[in-house]
Amino acid sequence: MKNLPKDLIAFLESNFTLKGGRVGIDKKDKNIDSKFNNNRNDKIIESRFNNSLESNNLSPTHRPTLLTITPIKVEISSDGTKKYLFQTSDNLTFESVFLKMKDKTRDKAGKIIKGEKYTFCLSSQVGCSVGCAFCSTAKGGFVRNLSSGEIVQQVLLLKKDNNLDANKSVNLVFMGMGEPLLNLKNVANAIKILSCKDGLNIAPRRQTISTSGIAPQIEKLGAMELGVQIALSLHAVNDNLRSELIPMNRVYNIAKVLESLKKFPLKSRNRILFEYLVLKGKNDDLDSAKALVKLLNGFKAKVNLIPFNPHENSEFERPDSKSLEAFASFLCERGITATIRESKGLDISAACGQLREKTLKNK
Ligand code: SF4
Repeated sequence: MKNLPKDLIAFLESNFTLKGGRVGIDKKDKNIDSKFNNNRNDKIIESRFNNSLESNNLSPTHRPTLLTITPIKVEISSDGTKKYLFQTSDNLTFESVFLKMKDKTRDKAGKIIKGEKYTFCLSSQVGCSVGCAFCSTAKGGFVRNLSSGEIVQQVLLLKKDNNLDANKSVNLVFMGMGEPLLNLKNVANAIKILSCKDGLNIAPRRQTISTSGIAPQIEKLGAMELGVQIALSLHAVNDNLRSELIPMNRVYNIAKVLESLKKFPLKSRNRILFEYLVLKGKNDDLDSAKALVKLLNGFKAKVNLIPFNPHENSEFERPDSKSLEAFASFLCERGITATIRESKGLDISAACGQLREKTLKNK
């Protein structure tokens, strides 16, 4: 613990305590303590957390009380995507998604030459106040911020449930429920825990904060120099359509948001990720692609084209693959890296907020 900054120790003490009020494994439980001490390379928090789940040999009075979120539902897609619905200790629900991005690659002799890759999509709030027109989470409004502990626990539980050991690195994206920059203090503390060598040791460059474009908060995040990546949900090339899709655009329009992103500190190999939700007949034409190239002039940019995933009662439609490919090629030919996001979990409630909405309706 001594390598952790003081504010993180305070955080751990309030979120990861034994019933006796101490951080870590109680010395009276000698077996656990020596097992822990023999594995100094294990990530400290992760070891304690996993021990706490498995420590049947701990007496109930010494069992840690750090689990404050519980998975109450898991939907599993045929492509391996898993959507978790978590319940908090005050009976609220929110979601996280486990995505398997790549399988193991083996050489002819069967030796693994590339490991599998995983991405966890994390929530930062219960509900959301931003009110995006295409989002199920927006319909329920904002309820409360998630604490740093609740954010960190999503990672621990997803790793644990999918048998990923402490040394398996994962990518984290704050693209689940909520606007992370409206809960910046807790999100930043969680990132410090997740990145810290004595924490989960997940490199900051593997963590991406996705924002709807809260310009002053983008600047605050940049000033914190956490080393994380940033993604902007741009989705439109003019303020009329963007305000229709993301009402926050009426406060921080495209020009203001891009201005704040210009000041964001980027490591040499990093780029700003611009997410562009492609909606049939709304923003999937080549005039929009042309305007996008103009807007991104001067940025080290990467564009992620996300074909809209229709859900119950949504007023938008999925674009056809021809117009998507033409859009992507137009950007690539003009020197902008553009990828089309592969749809994952189409057979489950994979879009943000869908599983929670469905569960609330059935209650
Ligand atoms: S898309 Fe994100 S920012 Fe927009 S309402 Fe949904 S959760 Fe909030």
